[in-house]
Amino acid sequence: MNPVGKPGKTGSLMPVEVALARLLEMADDTPIVEREHLPLAQVQGRVLAQDLVSTLDLPPWPNSAMDGYALRTADWAGEPLVVSQKIFAGQAPEPLQPGTCARIFTGAPVPAGADCVEMQENAEAQADRRVRFIQAMKPGQNIRPQGQEITVGELVLPAGTRLGPIEQGLAASLGCAGLEVVRKVRVAVLSTGDELIEPGQALGPGQIYNSNRVLLCSWLQRLGCEVVDAGILPDDLQTTRTRLGEMQDVDLILSTGGVSVGEADFLGIALREEGELSLWKLAIKPGKPLTFGHFRGVPVIGLPGNPASTLVTFALLARPYLLRRQGVNDTEPLKVRVPAGFDWPIPGNRREYLRGRMENGQAIIYKNQSSGVLRSAAWADGLVEVLEDRTLVQGDIVNFIPLSEVLN
Ligand code: AMP
Ligand code: MG
Repeated sequence: MNPVGKPGKTGSLMPVEVALARLLEMADDTPIVEREHLPLAQVQGRVLAQDLVSTLDLPPWPNSAMDGYALRTADWAGEPLVVSQKIFAGQAPEPLQPGTCARIFTGAPVPAGADCVEMQENAEAQADRRVRFIQAMKPGQNIRPQGQEITVGELVLPAGTRLGPIEQGLAASLGCAGLEVVRKVRVAVLSTGDELIEPGQALGPGQIYNSNRVLLCSWLQRLGCEVVDAGILPDDLQTTRTRLGEMQDVDLILSTGGVSVGEADFLGIALREEGELSLWKLAIKPGKPLTFGHFRGVPVIGLPGNPASTLVTFALLARPYLLRRQGVNDTEPLKVRVPAGFDWPIPGNRREYLRGRMENGQAIIYKNQSSGVLRSAAWADGLVEVLEDRTLVQGDIVNFIPLSEVLN
């Protein structure tokens, strides 16, 4: 509570977690329901549409974890044992003859009757086909039992899992040749601003190159989205209406720019006329203004135009929204608690996401944290979270969100 009774400094600003909760709720209301079956090699970056339940035990049979000898511990009383068979990976062994041992290699099935594998380093092969063991053995040693990793009927990957190399490998180990995945979410990317031109053209007076377009398009591709690159939208109401109207077959229109306070906000006007608009002032820095709404039923998210603001609001708000549209449950990036390598003497009224990197076990921050400076993020390998109304001295613990967490 504020002792002098003034409204709190964060006052009318919406906390980041409130905005995120609202976006996720809206994503839950409009899930992508279409699915497709894809060969396993093509599911990278996609979202699993149905639970993956194992039809196998893994391993399917007990197998040896070592190169060595399989035997029954009770058969060994200190005397050498005869080697009665040799079992390589990929072979089906005979049951073990009582009182003997079997030469066995890693991954080979353990023969019925054997209850342990002794590694070859603890055994001495003699000239008479017998093997001397040099120490006592325990039942079960060096055997990977049937079903140790996974048993038949077990839920291995729940629907909503994002699929990458590890999940693909796991599915392959269960014999899946393909998986049911959620259709790609279709996102139209629009860059608003009369000042924008594309790289490759000569820069005229008052113009800047459009950096958000390629930034968002390639990021969305990494996230497994189908990208509709809608280019630059001039600051003009009629064009805004027309261009938005052309995007009826996408799941989201993602625009940047034109949401700053005091600016002629053509996106906002168009949404108010033919849809719905929520303008949020967020307690986030860089960031703050964010538009959410729909145009003729198509959801629209309008991110602030300064490139570092675009990056932060996309990473923390639009990315989870898009993942949730595809049914991903766990949309929250990993946050690592690390010591700050800097002082933060003046508390802010917005939650700051400073572009920083880890050096000598501490998070340090780029010298220029202006929202227009995309270079700060290229220098950084993470976002350092500094909470509202918070000061820091070096060594205080802060959250660090690796950029690699949100870029995929
Ligand atoms: P706005 O939100 O439209 O007021 O834009 C805020 C700032 O970001 C202005 O300096 C814009 O020139 C800049 N900006 C907006 N869109 C882009 C873009 N696509 N690429 C680079 N800078 C942009
Ligand atoms: Mg603008």
